[in-house]
Amino acid sequence: MTPKSALIAAGLFAGLAACTVVPSVEAGAAPDDSQPVAPRTVAAPPAPAPASTPTTPARTDFTYSGELTQGGWIRGQAPSNAVSATLGETPLLLDEEGNFFAAFDRDAGTSELLVATLANGETVTRELTVLPRDWDIERVNVARRAGGASESFMRRRQPELDAIWDARIANSDTNGWKEDFIWPLTGRISGRFGSQRIYRGEPGSYHSGIDIATGGSGNPFVAPASGVVTLAVEDFSLEGNLLIIDHGAGLNSAFLHLSEIAVEEGDRVEQGQLLGRIGSSGRATGPHLHWSLKWHLTRLDPILFTGPMP
Ligand SMILES: [Zn+2]
Repeated sequence: MTPKSALIAAGLFAGLAACTVVPSVEAGAAPDDSQPVAPRTVAAPPAPAPASTPTTPARTDFTYSGELTQGGWIRGQAPSNAVSATLGETPLLLDEEGNFFAAFDRDAGTSELLVATLANGETVTRELTVLPRDWDIERVNVARRAGGASESFMRRRQPELDAIWDARIANSDTNGWKEDFIWPLTGRISGRFGSQRIYRGEPGSYHSGIDIATGGSGNPFVAPASGVVTLAVEDFSLEGNLLIIDHGAGLNSAFLHLSEIAVEEGDRVEQGQLLGRIGSSGRATGPHLHWSLKWHLTRLDPILFTGPMP
């Protein structure tokens, strides 16, 4: 049983839409049989029987599959002749065959709209049902720490935030988003995505990634999917040594608190390639890997990409 089917069997994600599979469009496949046949010379050897060209019926609707739940994602194909498509307000990056990736925020509502605009100006709309989740919410009877960073901190922080922003909005030419993600390393999950404290009724910010601890520092971790390194920096004030990998289609990973980074900005990395070693640099209570995934501005739950920790 695959990890993902185990999750489904456990009923955690019961009710997800089933996969919708369509034959992929073969490059150069004739859309019908009415193509003119090239004249043959008499001396030519018998031509091979024409390959049965599978006729690809036009897709009149979206097809997709994935994890239709808060913090989850879908991959799919837009209707034929779509020139653009959106999920809610977010434009989808369609590849040449109309394949796309889209994802649902931790706080997404139960209904989201996929909309394609066709070449003839018509639109195709598909309503998605996004399952809500029970987040790990802890109510504590203490006041939230007074916010407001000092001026000197923000002088240091702002360029860091700018660098992170630039790295996360990069749009690299990579198909990592089409891969089935793997765990960057195995260990104990010491912090789950989406967990949140509420301080005397005032919500703190939720945990934006997943924490993996191995009981020490220095364990190697690998790329969960292929991509391009868009940021590899040391000593950021909160993140410490920080690495960001762009998986394409608006999807990217960040790895925080590293003790060592083994790749450089601009490097192409393959799934499973060594990226560095975990640590406790920056603001961390102990050595662990904080892995966060984002699709544009939407924060996602890594466990919905990998399945349960083996
Ligand atoms: Zn974390």
